Amino acid sequence: MINDRVPINFPADVVDTVAEWLDARDGSVGLCLLCGESFGEADMIPGRPGYHNCPTTVMTMFAKLFDLSDDVTATMMRYGFQFEGRGWRRVMARMCARIESIAPEDFRILAVKSKYATLRIAYRGGSPGIDAEAAAAQADAARRCEGCGKPGERRKVGGWWMIRCDGCLVVSGFDR
Ligand SMILES: [Zn+2]
Ligand SMILES: [Zn+2]
Repeated sequence: MINDRVPINFPADVVDTVAEWLDARDGSVGLCLLCGESFGEADMIPGRPGYHNCPTTVMTMFAKLFDLSDDVTATMMRYGFQFEGRGWRRVMARMCARIESIAPEDFRILAVKSKYATLRIAYRGGSPGIDAEAAAAQADAARRCEGCGKPGERRKVGGWWMIRCDGCLVVSGFDR
């Protein structure tokens, strides 16, 4: 179900001012009212124009795909997506949009995290179609900077293996 109560888009008279300000900063086109971050075209949920792909919005919009209960012995989704940056949000948002219509009734995502430079997605109630989409998402993440979404490689950052692009390495520090 789409949560239509989430007003991501601004009234027309505010858009110009905000867009100008955001363009000057990082080329973004909107401001997410749920997480407070600015976002651009690439940070939207596929098929849902204007909606940010942050964990809060994705888990709201695709609520039926996630086990959002507080029982941490069953699900870790109360901690959101456990990876840094914007890059892999694109991967998760696209996967959710693709599996929404094929997910079995009892399907639920239980944890989403970055571990040893791979995107780990734990779920229950899957199907061959779901497995294929999850594998495709993981393969996509393996080539995409976790931080920004540009093409990236497996590198060690601050003692941890991550997928990073050259630009994000400059910011995050590169251990050789
Ligand atoms: Zn957001
Ligand atoms: Zn990057």
